Amino acid sequence: MKRLSIIIPCYNEEDTIPLFFASVEKIGKTMPVELEYCFVNDGSNDQTLSVLRDLHKNYPAKVHYLDFSRNFGKEAALYAGLKEATGDYVVIMDADLQDPPELLPEMLRLVEEEDYDCVGTRRDDREGEPKIRSFFAKLFYKIINRISSTQLIEGARDYRLMTGKMVAAVLEVTEYNRFSKGILSWVGFKTTYLSYKNRARVAGESSWSFWSLFKYSLEAIVNFSEAPLAIASFIGFFSCLAAILGLFVIVIRTIFYGDPTSGWPSMVCILLLIGGLQLFCLGIVGRYIGKIFLETKNRPLYIVKEKDKE
Ligand code: UDP
Ligand code: MG
Repeated sequence: MKRLSIIIPCYNEEDTIPLFFASVEKIGKTMPVELEYCFVNDGSNDQTLSVLRDLHKNYPAKVHYLDFSRNFGKEAALYAGLKEATGDYVVIMDADLQDPPELLPEMLRLVEEEDYDCVGTRRDDREGEPKIRSFFAKLFYKIINRISSTQLIEGARDYRLMTGKMVAAVLEVTEYNRFSKGILSWVGFKTTYLSYKNRARVAGESSWSFWSLFKYSLEAIVNFSEAPLAIASFIGFFSCLAAILGLFVIVIRTIFYGDPTSGWPSMVCILLLIGGLQLFCLGIVGRYIGKIFLETKNRPLYIVKEKDKE
């Protein structure tokens, strides 16, 4: 029988894990595969670790866990999980049951019978989400798909089932600044998407605030596009052009009409504008240098403190 590994990044999920396990087990029984769970405890501050320890005690062959030495973020947790997974197929799921396990049989069928390497999922609505958040999410996808050659599907979740081959490819991408949605699209492979209605968390709280999502989208842009760098040089080019034109105008005006010394306030405004643009562009360059800095340090993506199988 083929094996399916489920990777679950967990950050403060003590309440959701038992519910998650129960509902996935229920679906798993109906599927022609053997399940393996790889929970990754991403430095939770609650009882997540002891919940995982207990679960492992009850199902030693089936449930595995990793415990990080601190919170390294979902991206690192995903990478760690993919590395640990041993199944023929691997599926990434959130612990909060926002990723409906009912889709698993269909996802598996598509991979096994229809020759797909990867079946992703997307929410076809954003119900129960603040309007302003949906608006910015839409805007983000528009921008990133225009400026990056790696296309992102709007509303795509991390919930996806992949073949071992694709997982190996994802693991080859060892960059420190990980943006999984981009990496999963970048590696290619034949992918299809299932849609489903958005649903709320079963328990606990989302760890994403509006601000953290905003920062996350900037990360995505810097990681998968060089367009901002080009914007910086465009701005420079056009302000030079404007300055040269302005010079001409002033010189010609002085020749024909003399030079009444005025325009002090406009001068200050222009100075401020140019100074601001310079700092803005320097900032953009700085973001990229920051990324290079982190990348060259070659730090590990995560540190494991405790593991069930040693
Ligand atoms: N998560 C994690 N590390 C973090 C933040 C989140 O492993 O630093 C996990 C979390 O436990 C959950 C999944 O990532 O299983 C998705 O998180 P959440 O539900 O907060 O995000 P949302 O569904 O609101 O996008
Ligand atoms: Mg969630």
